[in-house]
Amino acid sequence: MSALIEPTTSNRTDQVIVVGAGLAGLACAVHLHRRGLPCLVLEASDDVGGRARTDVEQGFLLDRGFQVLLTAYPEAQSMLDLRALELGQFSPGALVRFDGRFHRLADPFRQFSTALRSVANPVGSLADKLRVLKLRRAACAGSLEGIFLRPECSTAEHLHRAGLSPAMVERFFRPFLGGIFLDRDLATSSRMFEFVFRMFSQGTVTIPATGMQSVARQLAALLPDGTVRLSAEVLAVDAGEVVLASGEAVAASSIVVATDGTNAARLLNQRVEEPEWTAVDCLYYAADRAPIEEPVLVLNGDGEGPINNLCVPSQVAAGYSPGQQSLVSVSVLGSVPGVPVEPAVRRQLIDWFGSSVEQWKHLRTYRIRHALPCQPVGWLQPYQRPTSVHEGLFVCGDHIETASIQGALSSGRRAAAAVIDRLQNS
Ligand SMILES: Cc1cc2nc3c(=O)[nH]c(=O)nc-3n(C[C@H](O)[C@H](O)[C@H](O)COP(=O)(O)OP(=O)(O)OC[C@H]3O[C@@H](n4cnc5c(N)ncnc54)[C@H](O)[C@@H]3O)c2cc1C
Repeated sequence: MSALIEPTTSNRTDQVIVVGAGLAGLACAVHLHRRGLPCLVLEASDDVGGRARTDVEQGFLLDRGFQVLLTAYPEAQSMLDLRALELGQFSPGALVRFDGRFHRLADPFRQFSTALRSVANPVGSLADKLRVLKLRRAACAGSLEGIFLRPECSTAEHLHRAGLSPAMVERFFRPFLGGIFLDRDLATSSRMFEFVFRMFSQGTVTIPATGMQSVARQLAALLPDGTVRLSAEVLAVDAGEVVLASGEAVAASSIVVATDGTNAARLLNQRVEEPEWTAVDCLYYAADRAPIEEPVLVLNGDGEGPINNLCVPSQVAAGYSPGQQSLVSVSVLGSVPGVPVEPAVRRQLIDWFGSSVEQWKHLRTYRIRHALPCQPVGWLQPYQRPTSVHEGLFVCGDHIETASIQGALSSGRRAAAAVIDRLQNS
């Protein structure tokens, strides 16, 4: 039976309350439960998953913003049943749109023959590709934690210092990393760059068969029935109790605020730093035929037009679309709020893939203003911020670690450990 079926009202002073059923809050609750601590997760919205949710639209699975699960995330390996998620894999490398056509940029570690072919294409010189290998070797050296102790600068500066040509940066790194950090300026810390590069190098890039939300559902299913209470927005947090929007007060021995960074700063009276946010628009289309033949990421390598990157999720995991149709996902960075993006996106898609795009059905556009906490130089010092905030008050979420699924899950585990530590010592 699902952990979500039976909402209960509980007022046990020995229980731990977790505010927020995103990946961090659920991870925290699972770790507490494994240690035998009674726990109640209060979630404002109508389902679990937070920023990793999936809607179903006419049989298509629409993740709320295109995102991928990297199997190299240590926390995903230790917490999740990756096999049960039935992960679909992206092909390594990318298709880069440049000079009016698509160029294949292969991953030299996994597709060696294609890599040799790709050195002849105009996405970057052979010298650039060798420098990329050097960057990758550096990112994979030493421990993961060690990356966050290295000297840091912006990712743009890091790539410049590595000697990469401006063409390689503009044609590959800016759209590729821009799509990951949701930051085309590449102001994100070089530590994040090294972290991400390492994760891409050491595992595969995947999406679950039934959408990103299945990660959260898998965690929620590990909790006893009634642990997660939906549509339970917390208005205020105090030592020993939380107050819900309904007016109900719920007592607790410890409270873990597992909301996004902005709500955490508010609920914890600015005891944690509120992050700046990146934004992204994600548009979904239904197409009779997939516009590309392989499960690969497509990047805008000339920077013209609104599209930063796109892919066909249904080629990566078939369950994303019903029947023989294809689902196309397009990410747009830097749009102006309130100004429609779809007409310009469709014009660019027609330019790239031809007039058949006119028949594509626009399913939905997600305009996400709070997507990832910005992680500029200095933000990741330390890269794992403390989870203990005040007497009996704790925090977790991607805003206190790397802005990623790894960061959310890891912060949840650390918060649970801090709660257990306090209870054992009190
Ligand atoms: C468009 C996009 C693309 C991304 N791409 C990737 C990617 O490719 N790879 C990757 O690793 N990561 C990616 N991420 C990041 C990843 O999704 C997040 O890091 C992670 O989901 C954050 O989890 P969280 O639990 O910290 O926060 P959230 O998911 O924000 O969860 C917080 C929860 O708290 C709830 N809440 C808020 N306020 C209250 C309140 N007052 N009372 C009760 N509940 C409350 C919210 O409803 C939410 O459910 C992406 C994110 C987005 C949005």
